Amino acid sequence: MVRAMSKTFFDYNSTTPVCPEALNAMLPYFSEVFANPSGQTSEMSWQSQSAIKASKKQIASLIGCSDSEITFTSGATESINWVFEDFQKRGLPILISDIDHDASFQKALQGKDNCGDFIFTSNTDGSVNLEDFSKKLLNLPEGALVSLLYAHNELGTILNLEEITSLVKEKFKQKKLLIHVDATQALGKFKFNFRKLKIDFLSCSAHKVYGPKGVGALVVNKDTISSISPFICGGGQQDGLRSGTLNTPLIVGFGKACEIASLKTSEDKAHYLKLKKLFLDEIKDLDFKLNGDLECSLANTINITFGGWKNLAPLFLELLPYSVSQSSACSTESNKKRILSSLDIPEAQTLRISFGRTSDEEAVSGLAQKIKSTLRG
Ligand code: PLP
Repeated sequence: MVRAMSKTFFDYNSTTPVCPEALNAMLPYFSEVFANPSGQTSEMSWQSQSAIKASKKQIASLIGCSDSEITFTSGATESINWVFEDFQKRGLPILISDIDHDASFQKALQGKDNCGDFIFTSNTDGSVNLEDFSKKLLNLPEGALVSLLYAHNELGTILNLEEITSLVKEKFKQKKLLIHVDATQALGKFKFNFRKLKIDFLSCSAHKVYGPKGVGALVVNKDTISSISPFICGGGQQDGLRSGTLNTPLIVGFGKACEIASLKTSEDKAHYLKLKKLFLDEIKDLDFKLNGDLECSLANTINITFGGWKNLAPLFLELLPYSVSQSSACSTESNKKRILSSLDIPEAQTLRISFGRTSDEEAVSGLAQKIKSTLRG
């Protein structure tokens, strides 16, 4: 028996439910319109093809890229692995940050013993340490890849991408470095424009933006990248770049979720800011410190360290019904340790709360009261 618990779920950075509009859009493609979209001969496969084209338009419109720059993957992990592997095959290093998500961190360092030269440090608020970053850029060979995590999954910190990309593309122009952005947590949470960011690759995922799990995209800038080698070979789908039968229902759900996100970005943000304020007002008498860049952060995310308590294990037990995250649920225990310890944030005293569309004031207030009563014993 499945029990509805969405009101008390405060881990929306780990995943989101499929929104009703996306679910409705997907349904016919599971059963009535099931033809293989690569088929040429039936009206049903033409319907599948046109649904996939429509989805690309919806995603392109949210991201600010063109439809032809999108290739569907199984999610952000695959997109990131694909780009990184393309550089690795050509013997080119990838510069990443010490607090990147494991999808980037583990892949970039795969098979490398000495990787210090290819990891730049972050400031304690999660922003890029520009001094160390510039030093590491200087040591990169021509044509190497720089990867940036747009909005941090744990801290919520949003990078000033324009500043960083202009440093890479203008100050270090002679190196012809390329830029990949992991926009998994950024997508749908705030507006950005792929073309204006002057980046070369972007990875994203549907399940963080109220679309289904198991589908994502890699966006490749056609103005700067002439080719990328295929990651999955086979039947030649998606211009031979990513073979395998396209998953029409998931792709349709992804597109619809993006369309809804583009309509709701401001509304969602206002809702999250209201909940954030309510939560912080309710716990204002406790001893705590907020982590991340408080000026430029995801509206739905709170990363908080409670002072005066060495270990929050009893609190975490009490908070089980609330699904707050002590770490990144989409990653491993070692990922969380690495990120928080890089930033000198005491892991055992820290938790992440991330709000979603279905979070409401009553549940947020309940969460705050539970934290207060548990910590005060
Ligand atoms: N990058 C970031 C910042 C994430 O938060 C996640 C979440 O899981 C991923 C990458 C991996 O995404 P996916 O689950 O689509 O593979």
